[in-house]
Amino acid sequence: MSNSHTPPLKLIVGPCSAETEEQVITTAQAIASKYPHAIFRAGIWKPRTRPNAFEGIGEEGLPWLKKVKELTGMRTATEVANARHVEACLEQGVDVLWIGARTTVNPFSVQEIAVALKGVNIPVLVKNPVNAELSLWLGAIERLDLQGIKDIHAVHRGFHTSEKQAFRNDPKWDLAIELRLRAPQLPMICDPSHICGNKELIPYVAQKALDLGMNGLMIESHINPEMAWSDAFQQLTPLALEELLDNLKVRRPELPAPENGKELSALRSSINKADEELLQVLFRRMQYAMEIGEYKKKHNLTILQVNRWEEVLRDRVGIAQAMGLNRTFVKEMYNLIHEESIRKQSEVMN
Ligand code: PEP
Ligand code: MN
Repeated sequence: MSNSHTPPLKLIVGPCSAETEEQVITTAQAIASKYPHAIFRAGIWKPRTRPNAFEGIGEEGLPWLKKVKELTGMRTATEVANARHVEACLEQGVDVLWIGARTTVNPFSVQEIAVALKGVNIPVLVKNPVNAELSLWLGAIERLDLQGIKDIHAVHRGFHTSEKQAFRNDPKWDLAIELRLRAPQLPMICDPSHICGNKELIPYVAQKALDLGMNGLMIESHINPEMAWSDAFQQLTPLALEELLDNLKVRRPELPAPENGKELSALRSSINKADEELLQVLFRRMQYAMEIGEYKKKHNLTILQVNRWEEVLRDRVGIAQAMGLNRTFVKEMYNLIHEESIRKQSEVMN
């Protein structure tokens, strides 16, 4: 999975929920035999969409996590949704806490948790909110930061969508990337289990997360997934977890200085030059669009000329495809360029 050149990947693995002492201990022992440095996760309180589903074992399960630590040496993690959960976890020595997606959406709850954690020096993970709102995710992180919590990680677990798609939660990778740009020092963990909602897509999502330079993975693993009391479809057996991790490629974010050689710098300066040309061409294209705007104004013509636009799109997409460029990409790019041309022409005309 990794070699001596790659940064160590943070692994947070374990069942969706702590169900029984035996399930927790046997799962933990199977995981620890292969990944003793992993953090063992298990949900104690489960936010469920409908009542009468299994809502977690509650405080009764916390001593099981303690036992996991005694027996395997692994650190433990669970989800907290209010100050009482925080207190109970701290009393029982849970090492890492996470704020779940359904809690990150609620600033009152996040604030309550942040205040309960003031002065406590343990890692806190903040899952993205259920809805695709970057500022809520950032806001939760800021609330913890304001209470002096030092070790904060973001967890990308995908976003609710009403569109039909293969994932349980839409990854919206662009939002995760945007958070990395806004908070470059903040480590980010990907949770492919909750993004996928099934076992089959997990390898693809986990690899994509690593290719984007994420710092770790949170993956649900259960000794007997078919019998799991929650999220049965997405949990991996410890053996399947091992197979997944063995096949992942961890890549380096940067080459160390002496190796960061001429080849890469030369390619990067070629890219910089090509980008400059691209921008100049775009600038020229917009200038022509504005001149056409003047012409349309003079002759009282509509901005949108449907036939002309169809012809341009067909022609450019055809050329691009012949060059080996991706058809959808070029079409989307032209739609954006066209929108901007229309905006510029209406500025000229109005
Ligand atoms: C979980 O990790 O089991 C969980 C409930 O996750 P989320 O908050 O991402 O839905
Ligand atoms: Mn789960």
